[in-house]
Amino acid sequence: MLFSQIPGMQDVKEILARSVRNDHVAHAQMFLGHEGGPGLALALAFASMLTCDHPTETDACGLCSSCHKNKKFIHPDVHFIFPVVSLGKESGKEAVSQAFLTEWRSFLAEYPYGNEEDWVYFFGGSNKQLNISKEEARNIIKSLSYSSLEGKYKIMIIWLPEYMHPNAANALLKILEEPPKNTIFLLIANDEEKLLSTITSRTQIFRLPPLPDDEIVRLLSLQNNVDTYKAQQIAYVARGNLREALRLIDEVEEDQLEWVQKWMRACFSAKAEMLLPLMEEFSKSGKAARKSLLHYTLDILRESLLVLCGRQTLTRLTQSELEFVVNFSKSVDFDKIESMAKILEDAIYHLERNASDKITFLDISFLISRCFIRTR
Ligand SMILES: [Zn+2]
Repeated sequence: MLFSQIPGMQDVKEILARSVRNDHVAHAQMFLGHEGGPGLALALAFASMLTCDHPTETDACGLCSSCHKNKKFIHPDVHFIFPVVSLGKESGKEAVSQAFLTEWRSFLAEYPYGNEEDWVYFFGGSNKQLNISKEEARNIIKSLSYSSLEGKYKIMIIWLPEYMHPNAANALLKILEEPPKNTIFLLIANDEEKLLSTITSRTQIFRLPPLPDDEIVRLLSLQNNVDTYKAQQIAYVARGNLREALRLIDEVEEDQLEWVQKWMRACFSAKAEMLLPLMEEFSKSGKAARKSLLHYTLDILRESLLVLCGRQTLTRLTQSELEFVVNFSKSVDFDKIESMAKILEDAIYHLERNASDKITFLDISFLISRCFIRTR
């Protein structure tokens, strides 16, 4: 992973690159963000730059032998600690990171913005509790007891230290209090509340904000070949969450707006023959796509509310979305939008709990129709 492959976060990248240029790298740093954010990717890119043989001013070179090893996550000076679960004795695996390294490397290659749910799914764990076990404490100490094998730094990347067993956390704390020379700890966390304050107080913290829409659009267009219009729709629904954005590539329909337009027209005219084909389409799409459609409709309602307030300029819509929203807002008022939003929120709640998609769709369509009638 290189800094140049990660969208946004220019300030953080610049501070990290400068620390390498000036040879003044803090020994413990924490990327504090949210699930689906770029924290882990930033730690990987920073580790690449720290171990690179010929770093540029702003990034690892991407070409030297260290960079090749980092690309496969097999650099001998870059160690990983991450939560795992016990798979039982028959698996022959201990519940420590070391036993899951093969799966971990594939996970990093495939889901650099993944969350714990993706990770559990990836290595085939069940719903058992994820944990950085107390046995991990000895691994932390052991992997740091050797001096750096290839270069200057030894790096320990700890993903989600929130999951640390107190013994593992105490082992880490002891090391942070008296850090071995040229050892860099990179922690990636989402929930500061769940960390020992004695650990956070010993790290330099980078708080990572959600990514702006235009950065997500850029990533999807450049790295995933998603066309700009669809990328904008995805960015809109993902709300700064990279993992969600990448997941939605296959889920989001080419044109959600067209579907929502047809749906709202069908509700407005209350005609069953218009609703039934839409119900079939809704039911055929995947669970995430259904949720995404309802979220998108909610967003359209919110934007209509802004238009009703005369705040058009604040909206973040494409031209065709804006045209629809302006038209739509002529058929509704504040109260109706509020009622419709409540109907959609309830439907999302029920669909998440596996309510029947067809019945739910007809229910909400009927309720939204009634909202329209009351406005006429
Ligand atoms: Zn390099």
